[in-house]
Amino acid sequence: AIDVQDLHKYFGDNQVLKGIDFRVARGSVACVIGPSGSGKSTLLRCVNRLEEPTSGKIFVEGVEVTDPDVHLDALRSRIGMVFQQFNLFPHLKVLDNLTIAQMRVKKRSRSEAVEIARANLAKVGLAEREDAYPAHLSGGQQQRIAIARALSMSPDLMLFDEPTSALDPELVGDVLDVMKDLASDGMTMMVVTHEMGFAREVGDNLVFMDGGVIVEEGDPKQVLADPQHERTRSFLSKVL
Ligand code: ATP
Ligand code: MG
Repeated sequence: AIDVQDLHKYFGDNQVLKGIDFRVARGSVACVIGPSGSGKSTLLRCVNRLEEPTSGKIFVEGVEVTDPDVHLDALRSRIGMVFQQFNLFPHLKVLDNLTIAQMRVKKRSRSEAVEIARANLAKVGLAEREDAYPAHLSGGQQQRIAIARALSMSPDLMLFDEPTSALDPELVGDVLDVMKDLASDGMTMMVVTHEMGFAREVGDNLVFMDGGVIVEEGDPKQVLADPQHERTRSFLSKVL
């Protein structure tokens, strides 16, 4: 579970998060939508402390992420993150992309890391590409590799920041299918996305952010069909 309590974030004088309270239950999928600059990425990045919250508390599986003494490497190894840009290591083959952090951070043996990597490559449908270099894969394949790499660290939860936004339209579906499978497997997920179909089908909760606050949240089907706030209605009319 993720528990965010009264989270505030400033960049200099710019107040980007203005008191966010929000919970993602274990095994559930929360989708976050909202206009550009509303603070979606900042919120996500605060959860694994890629950004330093100005005030407020965040708990992940009961552990306080915002505790100044928290062990950041240990924390981050429990939180998988997938970005719009896949950030694979270009000089490493797919399999090595999936094993390196397992060996360095999780201290797994090579053979154990390889076994876990292969299981996750199979999960994303790319078992046969373990010897490829990232540049030889399509964007959609690279993103599925990035997901498999995150999963290979055996995370408690997964954060996705617009994972399909950089992809050609015909490649989006395969990535969303992998994420859907992950959700069915019971992974706790927080997904910033513009894919309203995914939010409606897979999301347990839909959060609409604007101007650094949560304007509205609830059952995705309900929020999408019958938004309660004018700002939500206006945003949805532009994206649906
Ligand atoms: P998008 O849909 O475009 O990705 P977003 O909702 O993810 O937008 P954020 O990236 O969280 O929005 O940005 C929120 C605000 O914080 C913006 O005004 C942005 O300029 C500012 N901001 C984000 N990161 C930084 C940073 N590292 N330094 C200074 N300002 C930042
Ligand atoms: Mg963003």
